[in-house]
Amino acid sequence: MPVDPSTATLLIDGDWRTGAATFEVLDPATLEVVGHAADAGPEEALTALDAACAAFPAWRATSAEERATALRAGAAAIRAAAGTLAAIMTAENGKPLHEARGEVMGSARMLDWAAEEGRRAGGRVTPQAAGGPGLVLRAPVGPALAITPWNFPASMLVRKVGLALAAGCPVIVKPAEQTPLIGTELVRIIAEAGGLPAGVLQSITTTRPAEVVGALLADTRLRKVSFTGSTEVGLSLIRSTDTHLRRTSLELGGHSPAIVLEDADLPAAAAAVSAAKFANAGQSCIAVNRLFVHRTVYEEFLPLLLERVAALRVGHGADEGTTLGPLIDFAGLDKVERHVADAVKRGAAVAAGGRRWSPPEGGARAGLGGAFYEPTVLTGADDTMLISSEETFGPVLPVYVFDDEDEAIERANTTDYGLAAYVFGSALARLWRAADRLDFGIVAVNDPAPVRPELPFGGMKNSGQEREGGSEGIDAYLETKSISMKL
Ligand code: NAD
Repeated sequence: MPVDPSTATLLIDGDWRTGAATFEVLDPATLEVVGHAADAGPEEALTALDAACAAFPAWRATSAEERATALRAGAAAIRAAAGTLAAIMTAENGKPLHEARGEVMGSARMLDWAAEEGRRAGGRVTPQAAGGPGLVLRAPVGPALAITPWNFPASMLVRKVGLALAAGCPVIVKPAEQTPLIGTELVRIIAEAGGLPAGVLQSITTTRPAEVVGALLADTRLRKVSFTGSTEVGLSLIRSTDTHLRRTSLELGGHSPAIVLEDADLPAAAAAVSAAKFANAGQSCIAVNRLFVHRTVYEEFLPLLLERVAALRVGHGADEGTTLGPLIDFAGLDKVERHVADAVKRGAAVAAGGRRWSPPEGGARAGLGGAFYEPTVLTGADDTMLISSEETFGPVLPVYVFDDEDEAIERANTTDYGLAAYVFGSALARLWRAADRLDFGIVAVNDPAPVRPELPFGGMKNSGQEREGGSEGIDAYLETKSISMKL
């Protein structure tokens, strides 16, 4: 029986529970309450861990093919419910409906990929030595915790769940407090469609993540944490215990450069940069945060970019034609305003936007009191500005001019982050050189959306450790065992 996700968002040991308290979930565009989620504490989290530990032996003993069948059923059910899921996501995250739908469909593809990777996660046999062969086995690491952010509340969650379950690990999901409803609904769909046994997939929503996650981290039975979110919290998870080690995957913040070389297809590059910057109102870990344009094409490129930006339509994500929704909250808006004010103080010019957005007088929808900001382009940016070193996480694009390729790559690499970089151009040798020298886990060549299930996703430096997706993704949930045999 479907459970109303606005009242029972804890799936623990096979039961949907409401918890002792609930919290409100807001539409970030209108600040209206769109649902309620259960507010779990450490006790519920530890009950879920007990259930995960109890479920582990049987789940790891199922065949990879059975697990794959369950996951593929989950993927099909997600596709079938895409419209509902997208509406829930837009209601609590604010992103335009077409983006939400795209994310849902991408999540289903990730689940299908994980299902198949589980079937390929075998080991190897080493040559005969000292009387017998050696075997390298892959074994599920054990009960896992998936902590997910609000900005991509479906894909981040489904990718972790798929890889954990395919590897044979029970997983407890902890969605972000801003977006508990989509997380809960996805867990319900995957658990029901796949007929998953109690304790294999569980969900904990809470407004006290530090306390709840802290209780789980203190327990050595939790063998794996996969976290997507801020670098600050990611670092705190690593520091959380000095008594034991645990496998930890971190997908953290980014500060993506985009480089437009002099031989780029300029209209295509302008469209791609606009998409890679303003999708999800700039609240993406792989959003372009710094745009470097070759001096010889700058005058031609800028109007093309501004044309794209002028075509963006700000509004409620559920309204027809909206391409830019609100920021998740006013703290996010404050950071955007701080970055713009600092850049302008240091000499940048506002070429588009540069202020809060308000709905037009007499517009079709009233009550848009959320944290909206106009899509903004700053020209004359330089490397001393706050925006040049901090992740903005909003719809602001600073444009820098460069004179040669070496300079562009060096400036692009001058960041503590290393998640994604974009390069636009034509000559293959030059594109290859740039891709090779950019110190980022992901390099997008003439591509505005470098996320594919087949490719590993993750960053270098302060952007994280381990990878999700690709053939590498499942490694994060597997131990390697060496078996030495004398027969
Ligand atoms: P956040 O770190 O505040 O929250 C992310 C998750 O961590 C949420 O589920 C939250 O409840 C939980 N959390 C918060 N404090 C915690 C604590 N003390 N202990 C344990 N869990 C805690 O991040 P955010 O602001 O919600 O998300 C935005 C950040 O996420 C940005 O920096 C963005 O770049 C990053 N991000 C990275 C990727 C990636 O794949 N690299 C993807 C999406 C977002």
